[in-house]
Amino acid sequence: MRIVVTGGAGFIGSHLCEALLGQGHEVVAVDNFLTGSKANIAHLLDNPGFRLVEHDITVPVSQEWHSMLGEVEAVFHLASPASPADFSTMPLQIAVINSQGTLNVLEWARLHKARFLITSTSEAYGDPEVHPQGEEYRGNVSTTGPRACYDEGKRFGETLTSIYINEYGLDGRIVRIFNTYGPRMNPFDGRSVPNFITQALSGKPLTIYGDGTQTRSYCYVSDMVAGLIAVMFAPPETRGAVFNVGNPDEREIRNLAEVIRQACNSTSEIEYRPALQDDPARRCPNITRINTLLGWQPTVSLNEGLGLTVPWFREKLGAMQQTHKVEEP
Ligand code: NAD
Ligand code: UDP
Repeated sequence: MRIVVTGGAGFIGSHLCEALLGQGHEVVAVDNFLTGSKANIAHLLDNPGFRLVEHDITVPVSQEWHSMLGEVEAVFHLASPASPADFSTMPLQIAVINSQGTLNVLEWARLHKARFLITSTSEAYGDPEVHPQGEEYRGNVSTTGPRACYDEGKRFGETLTSIYINEYGLDGRIVRIFNTYGPRMNPFDGRSVPNFITQALSGKPLTIYGDGTQTRSYCYVSDMVAGLIAVMFAPPETRGAVFNVGNPDEREIRNLAEVIRQACNSTSEIEYRPALQDDPARRCPNITRINTLLGWQPTVSLNEGLGLTVPWFREKLGAMQQTHKVEEP
């Protein structure tokens, strides 16, 4: 099958491209490198089934899209910044990418009668009052707070997708991704896993925002990619469905810091800093739907996943140190 992955040079996108190529598909990665990098897909560039197209999805659909991307049978739409640190530095851009950008990708998928999958987020539940979060929960989200550009952008992307499914018969699906980690995360993008690993490996204090009792549930990237592929190629009766994809192993952030410190064999201190505004207190997916309908469940434990992730960070940071590129996390 000929498949487009928007955000294909990002963290999850690059692993997805790799997995799809491994299954014999032809893959076109579309990316403008806003938060991703060429290094993430450098090892794929020689694969005859792979093509990289440098393109900004907020540019309106035109003949240019068709001539650059060609025919397509399925579109995984991942393009969007994902780190909360970006929410304060590029809020308008994030809102536009997740509204106008998503509308463009939907329109382009419709014109090609392609299958479509959007990666929404657990942020669609905001600071949840229901725990764990099932797909039917409608969320507790601020329309004006510091996370609104992303949270509301993703919620609107879900709405646009459902309009295309209902009005135009698009073969579309919605995945709400919960926190995902693994090799190729940007070590300096400010998220908890890259921050803690980078700090632990460089002997700096691990910075916990608030008292560290807030929770998240961390999914290893290969499990996430398997979940995305399972949803995209699910039977036709799942068209239009929303699926949580994540690992229900819920951890307090202070526990995550400790587990990462051990995985890095580090003696770094823990440093408590002020809590972030509107930081969700608890987050854990109910994955009954995807498990029952598609048989998917995560297979990689946090310890195993960190065992695969930490060496990658060690190598990356070592290479950066040699070229004097290490910044403060
Ligand atoms: P990432 O930043 O590594 O990847 C996003 C990619 O999209 C980058 O390569 C970036 O350059 C590209 N991009 C951004 N704006 C673009 C534009 N206008 N045109 C073309 N390309 C553009 O982030 P990620 O963690 O891999 O996340 C991928 C997707 O999964 C995102 O949609 C994100 O919202 C979603 N998600 C991720 C997580 C997680 O824990 N990683 C959690 C929930 C949702
Ligand atoms: N966090 C932290 N220290 C850091 C980075 C993050 O304590 O250096 C906390 C953050 O406040 C949040 C949790 O870890 O409660 C997860 O943050 P992340 O940015 O990874 O993801 P998200 O908030 O989008 O779930």
